[in-house]
Amino acid sequence: MKRIDSIDLAAVHAELSAPLAEAFERVMASGRYVGGPEVEGFEREFAAFCGVGGAVGVNSGLDAVRLALEGLGVGPGDEVIVPAHTAVPTWLAVSAAGCRPVPVDPDQSTMLVDGAGIARAVGPRTAAVVVVHLYGLVVEMDPIAELARRHGLALVEDASQAHGARWHGRRIGALADAAAFSLYPTKNLGAAGDAGIVTSDDERMLERVRRLASYGSRTPGVAESRGVNSRLDALQAAILRVKLADLDRANDQRRVHAERYRVALSGRADVKLPRPLPGSEPVWHQYVVRVRQRDRVGAELARRGVQTAVHYPVPPHRMPAYADLDAGPLPLAERLAEEVLSLPVAPHVTERGCGRVCAALENVLEQIPPR
Ligand SMILES: *Cc1c(COP(=O)(O)O)cnc(C)c1O
Repeated sequence: MKRIDSIDLAAVHAELSAPLAEAFERVMASGRYVGGPEVEGFEREFAAFCGVGGAVGVNSGLDAVRLALEGLGVGPGDEVIVPAHTAVPTWLAVSAAGCRPVPVDPDQSTMLVDGAGIARAVGPRTAAVVVVHLYGLVVEMDPIAELARRHGLALVEDASQAHGARWHGRRIGALADAAAFSLYPTKNLGAAGDAGIVTSDDERMLERVRRLASYGSRTPGVAESRGVNSRLDALQAAILRVKLADLDRANDQRRVHAERYRVALSGRADVKLPRPLPGSEPVWHQYVVRVRQRDRVGAELARRGVQTAVHYPVPPHRMPAYADLDAGPLPLAERLAEEVLSLPVAPHVTERGCGRVCAALENVLEQIPPR
C-alpha cells in the first residue's frame, strides 16, 4: 500500500502548476527580482487577508520575529517572554535581537502559553511577549493583550504556523502590536524557498522594519542604523500570491482531516487530542496527539506505512545553544517533548488516508500496555 507522507509539497504544487508557471514567467520577464511591484502586491494582499493595516516581506520567519521586535523598539538588555514549548527559531529570533528569552511553561490542556503563565514571568526587565500560535492552534489573546497593555509590554504574535486562523472571527496577524509569519515551504502558506512577512497596524513600525531589512537604509547607499539584508524576492512573492488565493481552501482541507481524527479518536483514553480554545478557528498546521511510548508508536506507524513527525523532541532550553540560560524548571514543556506525535494532516492527505492513519494508530495502541 502507498505510504502516507507527512508532507508532499510536489503534490500541492502540481495542482497549481499553471498559475505558478505564469507567475514565474511574469517575474522573469519583468527584470525586477528583489522587491518591486510583485512584492508590494503580495504585501498588500496578505495584509488585506489578515485584516491588518500593512505588511513587510522579509527573508524568513526567524527574521520576521526578530525585525518585529526591533521595529517595536525592543533590543539589547531587554527580556522577552517566550513559550518553552515552540520551534527553536522563536527563541533564536529573540537572541538575534540582543534580548534574553524568558520561557513560560505551556498550559497542559492547550499546549500553548496562557495569560497566567505569562503574568508569573513578568519582571522589571521584561520588554515584550512573543506568543506562538503553535500547530495552527490559537493562543487565548484577550487576557494576554490586556496583561501586555497593563505592563506596557510589546506584544508580538509568532504566527508562523497559523496563517488564516481566527480568534473570535478575527484573523491572527491582526491581534497584537505586530505579527511575524514564516513562509517556509512546509507552512500553511509557503513559498518555494525561504520567505517571511511582518504585519502591523502601525505604519511607522512597519517602515522601521522595512529599513532594518534593507541595510538600515532609507536612502539607498546610506545606512542610518546597522541593518541586515532580509528582503523578499519577487519570485517568491509571485508564488505566494498564487498560494494565498488557495489558502482558505487548503486550510479547509486540513480542517476536514482534523475533524476526521477527532471523531475517530476522541473516545480513547490512551490518546490525548488537541483541544482548540472556544472562540478559535485553528488551521491545523500539525495535528498533534499525545501518547505514551511515543517513539515506539511512531516507529510502529512507520512500519505500517504511516509517516509521523515529532514537533518538537527537544525543548529549546535543553539545547546546547541555551546551555548557559538559567531557565528554571519547565516540567510541562519537557513532558510534551516526550509525548507529542504529529499525524499527517496536510491538504494532500485524503480522508481515506486519515482513516488508514486512525486504523493503524488504534492497531499500534493495542500493543502498548496500559500504565
Ligand atoms: C517555522 C517557524 C519559524 C521560523 O521560520 P523560518 O522561516 O524557518 O525562519 C519561527 N517560529 C515558528 C513557530 C515556526 O514554526
